[in-house]
Amino acid sequence: MSEEVKSLNFIEHIIEEDLTKGYKKDELRFRFPPEPNGYLHIGHASSICLNFGLGLRYNAPVNLRFDDTNPAKEEKEYVDAIKRDVEWLGFQWDTECYASDYFQQLYDWAIQLIKEGKAYVDSQTSEQIASQKGTPTEPGKESPYRNRSVEENMTLFEGMKNGDFKEGEHVLRAKINMASSNMLMRDPVMYRILHKPHHRTNTDWCIYPMYDWTHGESDYIEQVSHSLCTLEFLPHRELYDWFLDQLVSTNKLRPKQREFARRNLSHTVVSKRKLLQLVESGVVSGWDDPRMPTISGLRRRGYTPESIRNFADTIGIAKRENVVDVSLLEFHVRDHLNKIAPRVMAVLDPLKVVITNYEEGAEEWLDAENNPEDEAAGSRKVPFSREIYIEQEDFREEANRKFFRLKLGGEVRLKNGYIIKAESCTKDEDGNVVEVQCTYDPKSKSGSGTEESLRKVKGTLHWVSIPHAITAEVRLYDRLFSEANPDGNKEKDFMEFVNPDSLQKVTGYLEPSLQDVKVGDVFQFQRLGYFNVDKDSSTQNLVFNRTVGLRDTWAKLEDKN
Ligand code: ATP
Ligand code: MG
Repeated sequence: MSEEVKSLNFIEHIIEEDLTKGYKKDELRFRFPPEPNGYLHIGHASSICLNFGLGLRYNAPVNLRFDDTNPAKEEKEYVDAIKRDVEWLGFQWDTECYASDYFQQLYDWAIQLIKEGKAYVDSQTSEQIASQKGTPTEPGKESPYRNRSVEENMTLFEGMKNGDFKEGEHVLRAKINMASSNMLMRDPVMYRILHKPHHRTNTDWCIYPMYDWTHGESDYIEQVSHSLCTLEFLPHRELYDWFLDQLVSTNKLRPKQREFARRNLSHTVVSKRKLLQLVESGVVSGWDDPRMPTISGLRRRGYTPESIRNFADTIGIAKRENVVDVSLLEFHVRDHLNKIAPRVMAVLDPLKVVITNYEEGAEEWLDAENNPEDEAAGSRKVPFSREIYIEQEDFREEANRKFFRLKLGGEVRLKNGYIIKAESCTKDEDGNVVEVQCTYDPKSKSGSGTEESLRKVKGTLHWVSIPHAITAEVRLYDRLFSEANPDGNKEKDFMEFVNPDSLQKVTGYLEPSLQDVKVGDVFQFQRLGYFNVDKDSSTQNLVFNRTVGLRDTWAKLEDKN
C-alpha cells in the first residue's frame, strides 16, 4: 500500500485529491487524443502510457479520440497506423471516437453562442485580425464587425456552413475580451472555411472547428473527467474553461484540463511535422524506417512493446520539459531482449580460419544453448568444419597481453566448440591478413566433460562454419542525427544535423539455423548485439536489422553521475 502511494505521479495526486472532493471513482474517464496527421512517436508513448496507465490504475475507461478537425493534413492512413500502434503497445481503448462525429453538436452549440451574443462573424482577412491582436503587454483592438446583430451573424454563419463563401472570407469568433492579458482570450477564432473534403465527413462540411473550440467540448461530450495534455496548452486552459462555462449543464461532469511536460529524446526529433519532413525529403525510407523514433519504426527495428512501456514508466511524467538520453531507451530494449532473444552466431566482417588438423570434408554438429537467461529456450545444433569465419577484428598477428582474442601463438575458445591456436597467417599484396591457419585441441570440446573441455582460456570467439553458412543482408544503424539536440539550435535547421552515415548495409554469414526465420523474430548475434528480421526479408533474401549493440552505454553514463 505505502509503495503504491509513493509511486503516485503528480497527475495521480490531482486525481486522488479530486476523489476526496466529490468526484466518484466510477466517474473517472480518460482519453488519448492524437491528431491523425502523422504516425505516433516515442513522445506519444509517454502520453499513451500515462492515460492508459490511469485507466488501469483506476479501472476507468480510456477513449481513443481522433482530433480530426483539419482535413488539409489528416488521412485515414494515419488513423489506421495510430490504432495499430496503440494496440501493439498493449493497450485497449474503451471507445474509438472522432471529433468529426461531433461536428453537428459543435455547430449547434456555436449557434447557441451566437444567439447569446457570445460569438460573431468577422469578415476581415486573417492578416487584419492578426494585426489587431495586440501584444502581451498591449491590449488588442476590437474588430469593426464585433457588434454585428445576432440576425446578421446567424445569416452569415449559415452562409458559411452552406458554402456560400470562399475560404478566408469570414470566420466565427468567440466574443470574449480583446484586452485580456491572455492573448488566447482575445476573441479566438472558432470556425474557418475550408473547402476541403474530410476523410470521414467527405464534403458534408466546409467550415471546420478550431482545436480550442473542439477539444474541451469533445471531452465534455465523452464525459472525460481528466483531460491531460502537454504544457504548451497551459495558456489554453482559460479558454478551455470559458467555452465549457458557456455550455456545461449542472447534472453533467465537467472535464478538467491538466498539463504535463512533453518528452523529448536525444539525437532525434519528436514532432510529426518534422518526421513528415524526413519522410518527404527521402532522408528515411518511410514513417517506419528503423531509424525513425516512431512507434512503427521502433517496432520494425526490433523494439518490444514491453521495452517501450518500461522506458515510459521509468522516465515517468514531469512538470518541466527536458531531453531524455536515447541510451536510456536502448537500455530498456537491451534489458528485455536479453531475457527473450535466442542466441545465435553470425559473422559480419569475415576472416577465414583453416583448422589444419581437422579432417578435410568432415563436419560435426555441436550443442549450443539458445538462451542462458532462459532454460526453457532449449538448445540447437551448430555445424563445425575445417573452415570457419571469425571477425576480422578478432585476430591480430601480434598484440599485447590485454588482447584476449586470437593472435599468433595464442589460444581462444570457439563458442560452443573447441580451443584453437593460431599458427600462421597468409596476407594479400597490401599486407592484409586474408587467412589464418590454426590447430585445434580435439579433447577440448565444450560440454564434453574432459579435463581439456574445462580448460580456461581467456577469450571466447563467435564463428560460423564456412560451408554451412547462409548469407543475409544486415543493416547497421547509427543515430539519425549527429547532434544530441538537433531541434535546439536557433541558427540551424534540424535537417542540417542529419547524420549521413546512419545506415550501413553489410553481408552477414549466419549459422544455418537462421534459414527459416520469420519477419519480426529477434535474436542476439553473440558478441555483436540484438538483431531482428526486417519486413524486407524473404527466404531467398534474408534481411536483418541491428536493434541495438550489446554495450551498455547507459550504465556507463549512470556510473559517472
Ligand atoms: P506533434 O507535434 O508531434 O504533432 P502533437 O502534440 O501535435 O505532437 P497530437 O497528435 O496532438 O500530437 O498528440 C496526441 C497527444 O500526445 C496529446 O495529448 C499530446 O499532448 C501528446 N504528446 C505529443 N507529443 C508528446 C511528447 N513528445 N511527449 C508527451 N506527450 C506528447
Ligand atoms: Mg498537433
